[in-house]
Amino acid sequence: LKSMLTRPDLVCTEAFVGGKWVKAKSGKSFDVTNPARGDVIAQVADLSREEVADAIEAADDARHAWAKRTAKDRGSVLRKWNDLLLANADDLATIMTAEQGKPLAEARGEVAYGASFVEWFAEEAKRVYGETIPAHQPNLRISVIKQPIGVAAGITPWNFPNAMIARKVAPALAAGCGFVVRPSELTPLSALAMAKLAQEAGLPDGLFSVVTSTDASGIGKEFCENHTVRKLTFTGSTNVGRILLRQAADQVMKCSMELGGNAPFIVFDDADIDAAIQGAMISKFRNNGQTCVCANRIYVQAGVYDEFAEKLKTAVEALKVGDGFGSGTELGPLIGDNAVKKVQEHLDDATSKGGTITTGGKPHDLGGTFFEPTIITNATKDMLVSTDETFGPFAPLFKFEDEDDVIALANDTIFGLAAYFYANDLRRVTKVAEALEYGMVGVNSGLISTEVAPFGGVKQSGLGREGSHHGMDDYMEMKYICMSV
Ligand code: ADP
Repeated sequence: LKSMLTRPDLVCTEAFVGGKWVKAKSGKSFDVTNPARGDVIAQVADLSREEVADAIEAADDARHAWAKRTAKDRGSVLRKWNDLLLANADDLATIMTAEQGKPLAEARGEVAYGASFVEWFAEEAKRVYGETIPAHQPNLRISVIKQPIGVAAGITPWNFPNAMIARKVAPALAAGCGFVVRPSELTPLSALAMAKLAQEAGLPDGLFSVVTSTDASGIGKEFCENHTVRKLTFTGSTNVGRILLRQAADQVMKCSMELGGNAPFIVFDDADIDAAIQGAMISKFRNNGQTCVCANRIYVQAGVYDEFAEKLKTAVEALKVGDGFGSGTELGPLIGDNAVKKVQEHLDDATSKGGTITTGGKPHDLGGTFFEPTIITNATKDMLVSTDETFGPFAPLFKFEDEDDVIALANDTIFGLAAYFYANDLRRVTKVAEALEYGMVGVNSGLISTEVAPFGGVKQSGLGREGSHHGMDDYMEMKYICMSV
């Protein structure tokens, strides 16, 4: 891996704790593998819960002086970090593709997307406005100020090894908080490389730590039980989110949760079908179907069902599957064996219940965790895929007749992260956009993520919003000051 980089020193195998690069006190490390080939690319420090407590203490020590600096000053350090992330984008992308498998072009896109949060919140730091409120008695003056919540802890997944960290750490630091993140043990190298550049940008020692560890549940407990931590932010599955919320309840910790989705993608008769195909390809197959906003259930109205199915098949068959470093690769490997198992399970369940495979349908000839991008038609409500997120390259096409029916079907889930629909009739667009019970709705668009808009879910898809000017709120507390004059 190092030989592929302009800056080989960006491959860090020690954890970043309290401003220092450290090995685990136990001497333990864990393997990081390349999912495309299964070979070990690095061995990273495997920290214990006690060492994570040290990182939390260091963040608490550093945060007071940091919060006292002007917002402009904090913002300028973040802006330097943004510049370094962009200047080293090629190396960061290479590291990401090596440990995560996504095509290099997608990895580059993610690095730019991650940096965009750092830039955005560098600017937002200066716009944390309070308010004055006309008082209820003549001798009183009422004001509200916003203050950083304290030390925040983050737990992040492997599907976006850079951006999921950037969009938590940047608003926290902009607000004046300290931050400790535990990246997924599958993708620690991207996180550590980001920390290296944060250090170069001039972040004070200890303010931001990256604690690498295989002890996911132990570190999760430390984050929830350590009284210095005042905020927990998590991106991952709804199941783990529930565990963390229960644990965080003991000290009534403020939590942000970006959890699972089960996104409907609806194509109405009046849609521009070619645009819908393009949107479906991005929404379904980006990152090989491994995003929480990926289309999971594709509903197509009867009048355009056959045309849509045919055109989607053509588009899917043109996808190039391969090693993320291969030229022109559009779909990489899945992250691991369990991911393959889940796709196969959804597929077997669908075919046993009447689904017809029109393309794909089995593990890819490339072997390993590569899987053929797959479409099934005649998908029905009783199939596993209608209630459970596949997180893989499997597109089930459901046929529907009626607008109200499809809205009800789309909303018939415990999840509420992203939804998409394609239509042109103004009345229909307005009605459906308002009726979908989701935190984010893409209308005639399959790609909705951006740093300028609030990302987040309703129902069991989560709590809080990341990005946009609302993104600062998760790391701030309001203080009401009542003054007698
Ligand atoms: P995914 O399907 O994306 O892997 P998970 O929710 O399993 O979703 O994992 C998201 C992150 O949460 C990963 O970094 C994982 O290591 C971590 N994690 C898994 N279980 C726990 C737990 N019990 N407590 C804290 N973190 C956990």
